[in-house]
Amino acid sequence: MTTLHNLGFPRIGARRELKQAVEAYWAGDLQQSELEHVGKSLRQRHWDLQAKAGIDLIPVGDFAWYDQILEFSCLLGVVPKRFGQQTDQPVSLDTLFRMARGRAPTGTPAAACEMTKWFDTNYHYIVPELAADQNFRIARESLFDQVEEAKAEGHTPKPVIPGPLTYLYLSKGDSFDGADDSGKLALLDTLIPVYRQILQRLAGQGVDWVQIDEPILVLDLPDNWQRAYLRVYDQLAAASHCKLLLATYFGGLENNLFTALELPVDGIHLDRMRGNDDLGQVVPRLGDKVLSLGHINGRNIWRTDLDAALEALVPLHNELGERLWLAPSCSLLHSPVDLDQEDTLDAELKSWLSFARQKLDELVLLGKALDGDTSANAGLQAQREALQARSNSARTHHPAVRKHLAEASEISRDRHSPFAERIAKQQAALKLPAFPTTTIGSFPQTKAIRAARRDWKAGRLDDTAYNEQMKREIADCIRYQEEVELDVLVHGEAERNDMVEYFGELLDGFAFTRFGWVQSYGSRCVKPPIIFGDVQRPAPMTVEWARYAQSLTDKPVKGMLTGPVTILQWSFVRDDQPRADTCRQIALALRDEVQDLEQAGIQVIQIDEPALREGLPLCQGEWKDYLDWAVDCFRLATVGVADDTQIHTHMCYSEFNDIIEAIAALDADVITIETSRSNMELLDAFRDFQYPNDIGPGVYDIHSPNEPEVNWMVQLMEKAAERLPKERLWVNPDCGLKTRKWEETRGALANMVTAAKQLREAR
Ligand code: GLN
Ligand code: ZN
Repeated sequence: MTTLHNLGFPRIGARRELKQAVEAYWAGDLQQSELEHVGKSLRQRHWDLQAKAGIDLIPVGDFAWYDQILEFSCLLGVVPKRFGQQTDQPVSLDTLFRMARGRAPTGTPAAACEMTKWFDTNYHYIVPELAADQNFRIARESLFDQVEEAKAEGHTPKPVIPGPLTYLYLSKGDSFDGADDSGKLALLDTLIPVYRQILQRLAGQGVDWVQIDEPILVLDLPDNWQRAYLRVYDQLAAASHCKLLLATYFGGLENNLFTALELPVDGIHLDRMRGNDDLGQVVPRLGDKVLSLGHINGRNIWRTDLDAALEALVPLHNELGERLWLAPSCSLLHSPVDLDQEDTLDAELKSWLSFARQKLDELVLLGKALDGDTSANAGLQAQREALQARSNSARTHHPAVRKHLAEASEISRDRHSPFAERIAKQQAALKLPAFPTTTIGSFPQTKAIRAARRDWKAGRLDDTAYNEQMKREIADCIRYQEEVELDVLVHGEAERNDMVEYFGELLDGFAFTRFGWVQSYGSRCVKPPIIFGDVQRPAPMTVEWARYAQSLTDKPVKGMLTGPVTILQWSFVRDDQPRADTCRQIALALRDEVQDLEQAGIQVIQIDEPALREGLPLCQGEWKDYLDWAVDCFRLATVGVADDTQIHTHMCYSEFNDIIEAIAALDADVITIETSRSNMELLDAFRDFQYPNDIGPGVYDIHSPNEPEVNWMVQLMEKAAERLPKERLWVNPDCGLKTRKWEETRGALANMVTAAKQLREAR
């Protein structure tokens, strides 16, 4: 019988129970013992449902209070000095939380550890912080305790731990800066003995298989890292009485394939949804290793084409027999938990989808089919029919959209005139001062605003009352901006709960779940929309709000849209056509909106693309293709306007070097970016590239409640002016203000405008 296993299950709970419990604990409303109890019952529930589904090896160690890498740092005793950890004491739960968030119910607050994106997913992990002389030791027992728990429940646990090279590669430390991080590799000598102890302890608990995650094997690794693999795994294998399953995911191994196959491990897992390594090369080099293949996509929500999977698997099964294992492509952490609870999705759409629980059922079906078990036939047939229905459905194929897309290649991707000519016309039309001031779009989302939106959605507030209230909010926002003397105003985005969901709800081809939450970081979850069909704009989406806002003032009001790449990136995207095509459909819908805004007298239009960079593929070889279509989509959406209509864009992340050419290629008249926390150093990329268009480098960090000082902002702008021509500079915060309070916003923006005035005088 084919062995079925799972690489990880979402820990958050079908109703986000973990989020609620952890947040209640932070707020002091739950005792630690009560929190522990919630964690334990979630683990039990998740193990139980995996075992009941028919999974043979149950992952243990995928549970985390905040993040699985942070859990492992605590296990290894990797606690930065500022948290005051005694080196002979175990790391406590509150220390773990202090590392994640800077504070916890007990213990002295300290600066939280950095968080960053987990490969190309929307999950964020806590970056391990290593000292040059870092000591490692087993400093937390939870992994071993959980193995006992799982055994007590009658399961066969397969502990999951990050591999040593992945752990080090993803870590940081003051002494390892710079391109050459061989210093990190030097830590292996002290790290490996602790890994050996961990493996020995697990073996002592009767563990047969350990899953050791080495996802960095899908990256373009530097030579010294690639070379370190053999040495490290020789040492681990020599000590281990457990069998090691080396798990890779999020891509193919490509240049690292032969390295991985040479390692003295007992099995290797490959992601077959994202990777395409030649199995003809793999099988002869396997020796007596197990080959585990992931044909069920752990990162989207579509039902699997099991026939296609079987076609690929049958010959391998014939060759490898029981040495062929099956699993999802990666941990199911990245899928929502359970489709069964979705009571508002229609039956047809639901029949096309599969969340974590359903993916396990698919896996079991696939396993049975591979083993020739005829009881799988009915399930396979049902799956086939669902897939066929989806591909034939009129809901996924809109002839008009298809035609429009086919003709889109005829549409020019260039503005009428080059930037120099446009900006002159825009300046004549907009009559802005030097160092013009603006904001990024949203203003504080007050309780009253949220309540109004909620009541309107629930039908407790009728359209007229809702519209009236939103208009009052817009009017207040405009009046405030006039008072504080901002130059380019915004309507404030009161009507938007989320910058992607808002547009998804107004476009055809999008669906929304009630419980389709996926962990983003810590207790934070996101509920991405599902793009299931051709995207079309049935009616203008933002024009009436913009027109109303503009009617209240003589100053220009910016129209505000979310860009095509960001809408794509923050949704579950259909898998039956290239992402680029879906993105172009969104771009065409936005293009109509841009033109309608212009028609309505809106002279400045901002298209936010904060997710442009995060869409970059993991391997550099694929960057160009992605950036080409991403830029193409932005231009498709924006270039239809007259020269004197000013196009803005906004991005907020901290690395522009990699994509500066693409940013310039967007040809937005103005870009506002997040730079305040880096002291304007991020502008170096723009200087070196001689970025030609206008830039608004954010002058204060909206994530902080502190009121920015005038002098501080003036100095930042002076630093900006050392790098870029003064006449190209704008003054603005570094992101939207929706998470801030009005009390904080008023003072901050007043100071910002004062700073701009000082800059103008000094010219
Ligand atoms: N216009 C959006 C806002 O101001 C931009 C948000 C973002 O960059 N993430 O909220
Ligand atoms: Zn932003």
